Amino acid sequence: MSWDTTEKRIKCPCGRGEIVQVNKDNDWGQYIEGTPVIECPECAKKYKLVSNTHSSYKPGHGSWTNYYLVPKGLKPDKKYKNSFEYVNEYELAKKDFAEYLIVDYPKSVLEEVYTELLNATSVSALRSAARRIAKDKKRYTGSCKIKELTPLVKKAIDGFDSYNGNWQQRDDEEQENIKAEEEYLAKVRKEGILLDL
Ligand SMILES: [Zn+2]
Repeated sequence: MSWDTTEKRIKCPCGRGEIVQVNKDNDWGQYIEGTPVIECPECAKKYKLVSNTHSSYKPGHGSWTNYYLVPKGLKPDKKYKNSFEYVNEYELAKKDFAEYLIVDYPKSVLEEVYTELLNATSVSALRSAARRIAKDKKRYTGSCKIKELTPLVKKAIDGFDSYNGNWQQRDDEEQENIKAEEEYLAKVRKEGILLDL
């Protein structure tokens, strides 16, 4: 399988150099878009490249990336936070299923599930989130009896608020980061130069 490369060149903002993008494609219809490179020393000093990838709403229509040149001083107003350790769900669920529930589910959902479990007679009758949690339990620990699951869900609810890195804290932080990223990209679109590649 061989790759063909095509090169796109456009003038840089100062007009004395170029911005180059090398793209590759092969016989199987695969296409790899290269990251543009600022070949002009002056513009490379002044600008940095910021990419903004959009995914298509229609499935199978892929995504496209816009590239902007922005002044090097343009920075996000807020810093992105990363306060919590990445969790390997499988490892955590095997180690401590209640802890896994705290990290992976909102407290309100766990409370609904607990109520449902108290009234349930069999695992096969469980619905929505309770059914999903029972499936998780089976997959990660090998069994999912209601009398095993109920105290674990209770333990997760009781320990939720005092647990550092619970679902709520992780979600709050993620929402803040998404907002900070959107604000930054709005600035990039306004103050940056969209590359016509
Ligand atoms: Zn230039």
